[in-house]
Amino acid sequence: MIRELIVAYRALQCDKSQAEWAGRHAGRVPKLHPSSVGGCRRKAVLNAVDAYPDHLLHVDAAPLDDYVAELMYHGETWEAVNAPAFTSAIYHPHLETECWRGEPDFLINGTVACLVEHKDTAEHNFKIKDRLPYDFHCAQLVCYGLLWEQIHGHLPEMRLYYNGRGHYAEFLVWPNEELTIWEGQVDDRWHSGVFPLCVGAEMVALEGYWKRQEVPESHASPFAERFACTKRNRDLAYPACVYFNHCWPEYGEGPFHVEK
Ligand code: SF4
Repeated sequence: MIRELIVAYRALQCDKSQAEWAGRHAGRVPKLHPSSVGGCRRKAVLNAVDAYPDHLLHVDAAPLDDYVAELMYHGETWEAVNAPAFTSAIYHPHLETECWRGEPDFLINGTVACLVEHKDTAEHNFKIKDRLPYDFHCAQLVCYGLLWEQIHGHLPEMRLYYNGRGHYAEFLVWPNEELTIWEGQVDDRWHSGVFPLCVGAEMVALEGYWKRQEVPESHASPFAERFACTKRNRDLAYPACVYFNHCWPEYGEGPFHVEK
C-alpha cells in the first residue's frame, strides 16, 4: 500500500513536470534540447516537438510504466528542495540558439562561469565501480557548455553532480576534440575517464536532421542499446522511452522477457 502511494505521488510529479514543460513551450518555436544529445537521435528530434501537437513531426507519446517513471523522475524533487542552498547560483539559466534551447540546473557566475547539472540516481550506482558518470549525462552538460560558448564567447566550467541516499559524486567534464573527458570523486574515491563522443559533432548531426525536418531511423532492436528503448531488470525489459509504441508497435506494451 505504501509503495502504491509513492508510485501515485511520482505519477503526479510526472504529470506536473510534463504540464510545466508544455507551459514553458507555449508560444515558442520548437528547438532541440541538450538532454537529448548522446542518446537516440530519433528520440532527440521527437522530443523537440513533443509539446507541439500540431507540428509535422509530432507523434503521441505514451506514459511510462510506473516502475520506470519512478526510477526516472525523482531528481526534480531534490532540485526544488535544494535550490535555496545554491545561494549565489541562478536556477535554470536560459540558453538559446537557432536550433537549441535548454536550461542547465544551475549557473554559478564567478570569475569563470560554472554550469552545474544535477542527477539523482540509485544507491547501488555509487557502489558499482565505473558506473558513474553516465556518458549521456556528460554529453548533456557539454552541450550546455558549447551553447554557452556560442552565446558568451568562452567555454564555462562544467560540473556534474549526483546524489543518492547519502552518497554523492561530483565531476568536472570537458570536451577535447573527438573525446569527452571527466574527472572527480565518487564519495571519497577519485575517479577519471574518457569516452569517444565528440559532442560538438553530434550537435551538428542533430542540427542537420532538424533543419531538414527529418526523423532519424530507430535503433536496430529495442533491446540493443542500453538506456534507449527499454530498461532491463534481470530478464525483464521495460519500455523506457515514451515513443516506444510509435517505433515498435509490433511489440505491444511489455515488460518483455529477454535473455540475461
Ligand atoms: S523507442 Fe527507441 S528508437 Fe524509438 S525514439 Fe525511443 S529510444 Fe529511439
